Amino acid sequence: MPPTSAPAGSAPAAPTDRVGKPRPRRGEGQWALGYREPLNKNEENKKNDDGLNVRQRIIDIYSKAGFDSIDPADLRGRFRWFGLYTQRAPGIDGGKTAVLEPEELDDRYFMLRIRIDGGQLSAAQLRTVAEISTAYGRDTADITDRQNVQLHWVRIEDVPTIWEKLEAVGLSTTEACGDTPRVILGCPLAGIADDEIVDATDQIHQIYDDHIGSPLFSNLPRKFKSSISGCSSYCTNHEINDVAFAGVVGPDGTPGFDLFVGGGLSTNPMFAKRLGTFVRPEQVSEVWAAVCSIFRDYGYRRLRHRARIKFLIKDWGAEKFREVLEKEYLGYALPDGPEPELQQGMRRDHVGVRRQRDGRNYVGFAPKVGRVSGTKLARVADIAEAHGSDRIRTTADQKLVILDIEDDQVDSIVAALEAEDLEVRPSVFRRQTMACTGIEFCKLAIVETKGRGASLVEELERRLPDFPEPITINLNGCPNSCARIQVADIGLKGQLVTNADGEQVEGYQVHLGGGLGLTAGFGRKVRGLKTTAEDLPDYVERVLRRFLETKEDGEAFAT
Ligand code: SF4
Repeated sequence: MPPTSAPAGSAPAAPTDRVGKPRPRRGEGQWALGYREPLNKNEENKKNDDGLNVRQRIIDIYSKAGFDSIDPADLRGRFRWFGLYTQRAPGIDGGKTAVLEPEELDDRYFMLRIRIDGGQLSAAQLRTVAEISTAYGRDTADITDRQNVQLHWVRIEDVPTIWEKLEAVGLSTTEACGDTPRVILGCPLAGIADDEIVDATDQIHQIYDDHIGSPLFSNLPRKFKSSISGCSSYCTNHEINDVAFAGVVGPDGTPGFDLFVGGGLSTNPMFAKRLGTFVRPEQVSEVWAAVCSIFRDYGYRRLRHRARIKFLIKDWGAEKFREVLEKEYLGYALPDGPEPELQQGMRRDHVGVRRQRDGRNYVGFAPKVGRVSGTKLARVADIAEAHGSDRIRTTADQKLVILDIEDDQVDSIVAALEAEDLEVRPSVFRRQTMACTGIEFCKLAIVETKGRGASLVEELERRLPDFPEPITINLNGCPNSCARIQVADIGLKGQLVTNADGEQVEGYQVHLGGGLGLTAGFGRKVRGLKTTAEDLPDYVERVLRRFLETKEDGEAFAT
């Protein structure tokens, strides 16, 4: 399979017309078709210098000479290859987001994303993240819905020290952002769940070791999101990842994976296409590299908003993608395989106390909308260790799980967590409300999300204390979909709206009835369905009360 191991720069010669004259370098900018000239600023920056090279400049120059010494092409481009974004300067309202130049929105501080592949942390690793947060990030920390931890208020001067501390415990920020293979999602219960189809831990580690930080995959058309899981509740959402390996039992009765490609949300949401292949565990790394290589070589690079792999597979279809994968990249055919057996009403978040297959227990708990702090994460590490556990997990729903708790420790750990406002038996609203970073730190944001999400949870708990249905409520600060609004029961897309006095104020466009799993579908964006931020609790309460009043027996919100 030469294409996965060929240097990223070795594309075929430039295309020519029928009389041998070079064809204009246009098209979609697909390298495999010979279109190598950058067609936009981002492609030009990537061609000028590999994003991975910025690490040494941060260590040698920028951290010593300070923020003003940073080359703008590094600051707004290559820094992302190591999980660094400038955060939004405080006090700029959402109305300015689209009209100001990027440098006018930049703060002199950074958001730092720490990748946690498979969501797997030891107590020592979590404590290190916590210490970095308190020492260098003003005690900020968010658990993201891609199992990462994000810190804020990071100074460029501190980045090399932060990396040293992370790397000393086996963590990194390499390719946490940028046009790269981002963190690989994995089930937090991998290896311990009694209903697990297959443990994907080794596959996640192998891909991380073999391919993350490799120059072969450091210049992709855009980001590339992976999910590899054998969880029987499909908690890492294979439907909405660029590539996903979802656990199934194969034709010969052995466990393996069903392969999905091209899922993604944002402004053109698409569910991943099932290729219909069965991938054995030992083939996962090679198949992952082949899919990533197809994206690198054939992915569209002309327009950023069409540069995700979903647009390629939309044009090709699953059949052609599979043919290219097998014939051009793998050099062998994969067998046909079964599709995942999705179950009605299965929750994916792993919150609560449940039995592990070794007889011990896991304890999943819910911070409010993923917002924690360094201090709180240090407490979680302490609590885990005090109850005999060295394994903590992040989930794809902004939650945390502690593994390996003996029966006689369960009551004590539940009490200790709840004393930290980390609910093991949360209300439906705390359990299933997520919020993206929003205007507090994100330069693309139009509205506030984290604080508003937290107060919405509190209001709904007060107004609807015994609400019986599992309703997901997701808030985004802009039309991107970092908090997956299109697949929530109630998805709230931040935008400016007009209030009763005719003023432009923060508010949300409402999407209703989205979901994943058996009821997968994108929420309906009903014309005129908008609410101001101020009216949000009233609006959601009305929607939920009306649902309870009118629903038929067994009817879910999404139907
Ligand atoms: Fe920022 Fe928009 Fe993503 Fe929220 S959805 S984190 S506002 S880009």
